[in-house]
Amino acid sequence: MSRTTAQHEQTSLIDTADIRPDSTPSLAEYDVILVASSAGKDSQAMLDYVAELARAAGVEDRIVVLHNDLGEVEWPGTAELAQEQAKHYGFRFEMRHREQGLLLDQIRDRHSKLRAKGDTTTPAWPSSAARYCTSDQKRGPARKLITQLVGEKNLDRQARVLYCLGLRAQESSGRAKKPELAVDPSASSGVREVTVWHPILHWSEDDVWARIRTSGVRYHWAYDKGMKRLSCSFCVLASREDLLCAARLRPDMAAKYAALEDELGHTFKADLSMADIVAAAATH
Ligand code: SF4
Repeated sequence: MSRTTAQHEQTSLIDTADIRPDSTPSLAEYDVILVASSAGKDSQAMLDYVAELARAAGVEDRIVVLHNDLGEVEWPGTAELAQEQAKHYGFRFEMRHREQGLLLDQIRDRHSKLRAKGDTTTPAWPSSAARYCTSDQKRGPARKLITQLVGEKNLDRQARVLYCLGLRAQESSGRAKKPELAVDPSASSGVREVTVWHPILHWSEDDVWARIRTSGVRYHWAYDKGMKRLSCSFCVLASREDLLCAARLRPDMAAKYAALEDELGHTFKADLSMADIVAAAATH
């Protein structure tokens, strides 16, 4: 899907459901519709789109919004915004906290474990090759909430669960390879069939912002300050530009990351240190 903002403003919102009709599920066929929300722009646009489809199908009461709170490393106001966005549509909201504890403590802990094993070279920082910082897909909060929600339905047949994630193909080659709609066998069992849906997989960034602006729902303030992505203020996968912007907006948190670099003896990214980001942010 690729449309300009102007095109979006001229068309009905329901048009977006017709872009890839074979991949758009019939929401009425699902007992539970779980929408993952980081409160970032992609989650927000997806939520607005799913809300429109649910309204048309008369199944808004089956939607639950889940926000995984990342704690201190997350942009201030994110969890509150996720709740506000869910409330705007009248959806049930559930928040879970990182089961691994605070991210910086987890990194410190990983460092200790690596050193205890005699590994003095592997950096403890997460990376694209070691994304242990994200929630555990197999035992994490979403799986547990699905179990809870299916239990609440108390059905005498296998429950059908639709799990909606706001990933976009443009974000990475890995995401581009994901199917738009597919049953997840590892999340399914005799009591439930879990289908993962990426409703905005083929949307452009313009599509996302057009959807948000048309909805009139509040978006996170960090975008207006120059951030391109939300989640952790200092994401190991973020661009230098976003990291610089974040360091200007959250100097105390940037200093905390830089201090951890010193403590661990490894830079935040293989080719970029937080100390450099802090220094550059101070001079721009
Ligand atoms: S935002 Fe980045 S650093 Fe934070 S949990 Fe996600 S991948 Fe890891």
